[in-house]
Amino acid sequence: MTLLIEFAIIFAIVLVLGYLAPAGAYYWLFHVHAEDRHLDPIQHRRPTAKDIRREVQLSISTVVIFSVMATALYELYKAGYTNIYWNLRDYPYGFLFVSVFAALAVHDTWFYWTHRFMHWRPVFKYTHLGHHRSVSPTPWAIYAFQPAEAFLQFLGIAVVIMIVPLHPLGMLLFFWIDAQVNTAGHTGYELVPRFIRQSPWFQGCNTVTHHDLHHTHPNKNFGSFFNVWDRWMGTYLPDEAAENHGVVKPVPAEVAEHDRKTAKPSRSFREQLGGLVPQLFAERQSRSDHRTA
Ligand SMILES: [Zn+2]
Ligand SMILES: [Zn+2]
Repeated sequence: MTLLIEFAIIFAIVLVLGYLAPAGAYYWLFHVHAEDRHLDPIQHRRPTAKDIRREVQLSISTVVIFSVMATALYELYKAGYTNIYWNLRDYPYGFLFVSVFAALAVHDTWFYWTHRFMHWRPVFKYTHLGHHRSVSPTPWAIYAFQPAEAFLQFLGIAVVIMIVPLHPLGMLLFFWIDAQVNTAGHTGYELVPRFIRQSPWFQGCNTVTHHDLHHTHPNKNFGSFFNVWDRWMGTYLPDEAAENHGVVKPVPAEVAEHDRKTAKPSRSFREQLGGLVPQLFAERQSRSDHRTA
């Protein structure tokens, strides 16, 4: 089979199963029929037709980049460089689920740190600005990435497949969970039932509101599946900060203050570093404020 045919098959799979099916289904269910279902949006701000057009255009270009990289990854698989295994008895029973959890944890770590890196002011407009032009995203934004971000995002998938031993069934489960979490996260409606959200077992996992809040508070909530890195690194913003969400609490003052500071154009190295490590910068800033006060 020539590389071109491989690419064409992979492109069709990524386009239909990876993008059009999940984004189309969530859009139809939660945007076209949101009013019939009496759903309460997380934000008052509504996406425009222009936003959706931009999200689709960027996503299609990402599907092309993903497909080129997936074709290269398939070649690496054929050459024996990935950790994919076919015989379920190669590992103990239950390993399938352990491996999927490991894949989610590795990918979440990759996502958190590359995501924070892309928010660093000197690289932001070349990598991640395209995604953040959607302040109130729709499911069509799941791959709304500039080319550099698309490259980094697929590299994360490649790292998972190169280092975590995954059976094709485990890989399918991983991709399915990734598609659901990513698409739900851009739907604009909280889909996780309240009793699950409030369960102590769920506290390390993200809700839809978690990522929706990232689109309105770009210095918070960088994680994908889990919020463990956000909690450890001081970038966690709880769901209660959402404007339309249940008993509405105002956005915490320190967040509003931080957003105001980072909204100013700044060029000093210390301030640029502040974009990458906001809490360190905030601490240093408050110490120097105390000294000068
Ligand atoms: Zn997003
Ligand atoms: Zn972001």
